[in-house]
Amino acid sequence: MSERRDTGEAAQEAGEEVGGSVTALGSGPRTGGAGSGVSVNGDGQERPGDGRSDEGGGSTSGQEASGQAGSGSGASGPEAFGQEASGPGAGRGGGSRGGEAGERRRWRQAGVAAVLLGLVTVAVAAFSTPWHLIASGPPDPARDFTAAQIARSEAFDAATTLPSYLALAISLVIAGLLVATPVGAKLVAWLRGPWWARVILGVVVITALIQLVKLPLAIWVETLLRDYGLSTQQWGPWAADRLKNIGVEAALLCLTLLVLVALARRFRRWWIPAAAGAFALTIVVSFVYPVVFAPLFNDFTPMRQGPLRTSLLAMAERDGVPVEDVLVADASRRTTALNAYVSGFGATRRIVVYDTLLKAPQPQIELVVAHELGHAKRDDVLYGTFIGALSAALGAILLFLIFGPVSRRVGVTSIGDPRAVGAIMGLMTIGSLIMSPAENLVTRHIEARADLHALDLTQDPATFIEMQKHLAVTNISDLSPDAVEYVLYASHPSSPERIAMARAWAELNGVPVP
Ligand SMILES: [Zn+2]
Repeated sequence: MSERRDTGEAAQEAGEEVGGSVTALGSGPRTGGAGSGVSVNGDGQERPGDGRSDEGGGSTSGQEASGQAGSGSGASGPEAFGQEASGPGAGRGGGSRGGEAGERRRWRQAGVAAVLLGLVTVAVAAFSTPWHLIASGPPDPARDFTAAQIARSEAFDAATTLPSYLALAISLVIAGLLVATPVGAKLVAWLRGPWWARVILGVVVITALIQLVKLPLAIWVETLLRDYGLSTQQWGPWAADRLKNIGVEAALLCLTLLVLVALARRFRRWWIPAAAGAFALTIVVSFVYPVVFAPLFNDFTPMRQGPLRTSLLAMAERDGVPVEDVLVADASRRTTALNAYVSGFGATRRIVVYDTLLKAPQPQIELVVAHELGHAKRDDVLYGTFIGALSAALGAILLFLIFGPVSRRVGVTSIGDPRAVGAIMGLMTIGSLIMSPAENLVTRHIEARADLHALDLTQDPATFIEMQKHLAVTNISDLSPDAVEYVLYASHPSSPERIAMARAWAELNGVPVP
């Protein structure tokens, strides 16, 4: 979920992303969520086919279960709630007596759990983020980029700014309508069938309508990418990519909401199993992403035998990071942008480079892979997934807490009512948008640490800077993002910031400053 504009590719996603965020599947720390990965360059996951919908970025990632949402006194709906959940306090005082006092008690319990889990999540993120790396000088684009390169970057930024913000505004307006008006509930009320069929149909219909509204923006962004030579796609494959991406997100959303509604129909304290389920689903989706979802969008082949592969595997060996292979993704089917990323963890962990990158000089490719080795060595995807899973669990509890006020506005009294799906989707979108600046703040530091790792491993700041320049120029990165763009979209430090850090590293290590 989240559009990245620091690379061309990112902007591409911006268009797509719109959808992503509404379905809210991609939120969560981008380094972790569904399909997420950590890339060298600002994206890696954002595009619908690139590895994640991190976009929505994805993956950002992965809070399938509920970006945040809310719901309140959930138990008192017209739907039947058969039994209490067994949770803290479940037996105490006859929770089954229900009534207002029981509801208030359940709400307080969920509130306490939310505060505790929120503290744990913030603590894990705060302690696992490398806040202080090395002090660098101020970024200075004019030192490393020509006036023409800077002008082109500014022109591209100017062209994509409007569609990006429009996409964001539309996401917010739609989410607002779903959360603050009965429009979503009325839509689902027209649908017929058992509750589970109405949940699925509700997700499909609302997703389709949202995507229809956003389609012109997506076409606009794709047109810009072609104008600037970043997209290599024709409209047919572009539409197929988009449909696949929407399909995957809608399927995951259906699964999430079916479980959520089923739990709410069965348990008064449904937030307990919902939080556990959200946590588990985030972990599972991130784990299987490289083998289940990524192949829907790209072909991955082991890097061809040769000096490059030998050199990369030797570097991994030297680094103490066990890597069986480096995979090459056929990214050139849709983009000219350069990138690489790590996704999965444990048995599914893989380092992937775009085939577009293979045309770069070998020392630059080695620098890119050295950065990815930094992510692998620190298990950044695993930590990101864990934080994303905690956030998803927290989102499930917040949904329970907030649904009360929302229910009055949308005219649906319980999460167990299929007519609530629109409101839940809206809350998930809002939640992931709120989380996005915090995710970016964390990932920018994690990316800087991977850069430092690449410098330590290669001892070659000159090539590092060449690589950053090459990536920035090819991907038409934003060389001086304004504050709002930086906070909202920048998952990576800007290229001039990364270059400044390489110079600081050189000074610190007594290497000639390039
Ligand atoms: Zn990275």
